[in-house]
Amino acid sequence: MSAPILGATASELGQRIAQGELSATEVTSAHLAQIERVDGQVRAFLHVDAEGALERAAAVDARLAAGERLGPLAGVPVAVKDLFCTAGVPTTAGSRILEGWVPPYSATVVRRLTDAGLVLLGKTNLDEFAMGSSTENSGYFTTHNPWALDRVPGGSGGGSAAALAAFESPLSVGTDTGGSIRQPASVTGTVGVKPTYGGTSRYGVIAMASSLDQPGPCARTVLDAALLHEVMGGHDPFDSTSIDAPVPPVVDAARSGDVRGLRIGVVTELGGEGYAPGVEQRFAEALDALRDAGAVLVDVSCPSFRYALGAYYLIMPSEVSSNLARYDAMRYGLRVGDDGTRGVEEVMNLTRGRGFGEEAKRRIIIGTYALSSGYYDAYYGSAQKVRTLITRDFEAAFAGVDVLVSPSTPTTAFRIGERTADPLAMYASDLCTIPSNMAGNASGSFPCGLAPEDGLPVGFQVMAPPLADDRVYRVGAALERALSARDGGVLTDRIADRWLEA
Ligand code: GLN
Repeated sequence: MSAPILGATASELGQRIAQGELSATEVTSAHLAQIERVDGQVRAFLHVDAEGALERAAAVDARLAAGERLGPLAGVPVAVKDLFCTAGVPTTAGSRILEGWVPPYSATVVRRLTDAGLVLLGKTNLDEFAMGSSTENSGYFTTHNPWALDRVPGGSGGGSAAALAAFESPLSVGTDTGGSIRQPASVTGTVGVKPTYGGTSRYGVIAMASSLDQPGPCARTVLDAALLHEVMGGHDPFDSTSIDAPVPPVVDAARSGDVRGLRIGVVTELGGEGYAPGVEQRFAEALDALRDAGAVLVDVSCPSFRYALGAYYLIMPSEVSSNLARYDAMRYGLRVGDDGTRGVEEVMNLTRGRGFGEEAKRRIIIGTYALSSGYYDAYYGSAQKVRTLITRDFEAAFAGVDVLVSPSTPTTAFRIGERTADPLAMYASDLCTIPSNMAGNASGSFPCGLAPEDGLPVGFQVMAPPLADDRVYRVGAALERALSARDGGVLTDRIADRWLEA
């Protein structure tokens, strides 16, 4: 009997497709059937484009049959966060204000996936405009964590992470402004990487906070994430902040996983009070595993990280307030009250009042306030100074170590509803991830076991200097290798029985 399709890694599927053992159409059909079977429970997808996916798969099969040489992921399905514009496929950003909008063009990242022969399955759920840590702020519905359906899958990219853990897709794509790739990866036992700012194109990605947003790969294994990173990344003349440099050697690093002699700094500020005991325990074991693999561990203090969350929640809403001004009822999606009796401002008010959810409104108001004259220096200006201090902490640390590490999140997945009434508790989910967005360096989250107290996944964060994304993968691969040897497979294998039909 041939090996199953669902549950296989993207790299295996790509190889089997390249060898002619499987077709893109078969692989796509199997994943569409899985979505059909389980997504009623998980709710990872806002939009499944079954017909389009099969057409795209058939086109890839034809290209391969014609002898075209596509990359190692040709024919492999991918789910894309609904923040990326996809030509002809609805794009909502998780907001009612964009309901029914169909973009006329695709994001650069999406175009690169298609050019490399990846097959877009559909668009995944997210917190509205990527604002949140649980997908509960989606204007449509909440996604459930495949490890425990009463728990959140993290956010904002909870749909992209849940789709992996429920084996609905072998690969997905997210964006990370303050942790929206890494935090969902952490709480779903998957891999998620935020590349160096400027390493992946933001062109065609609906903007939340432009100086922080960064698209990145999500997968169940380190190698799969690296293969996807390589396809997505690289210079894009359409994005003025895109770095004109080759993609770091992430795939080689993921294949190697050699950390002998690598200097790893453990950030002393990211631990202690507020961190779940099981998170600290698994994190400490992961450090032991890396030491056993030959890495040199040292403690490193980054004192300004303490102020990162506060500064982020001024800079991000300030950018949000200006980026979201474009939803004016005239150009995209929803328009409310345009019955010939009202003026343009009234229609704009009604549309924004109805179309934006509570969190989007909260941030627009905070940002507008922080930028208003008389407050600009006190709030936005001070936050920018803190941002510089955080960057300096990273620079000082990287003068002595090759990477920094911490838990990815202070706790495991929380219960749906547990933090919705308390925005500050929700914001604290991103304590560990935000510094790397503020400084723009590369950072990833890798599974490091289950917390004994609740049996839920714990994430291990690796932070590397700008353009040293390969180091993130090198450490991730070392960890994956050590823990798979100990546990008999990657973390998501443990819920394969639950989500895959016998
Ligand atoms: N959870 C953070 C926020 O709500 C980060 C979001 C993100 O990375 N898009 O802003």
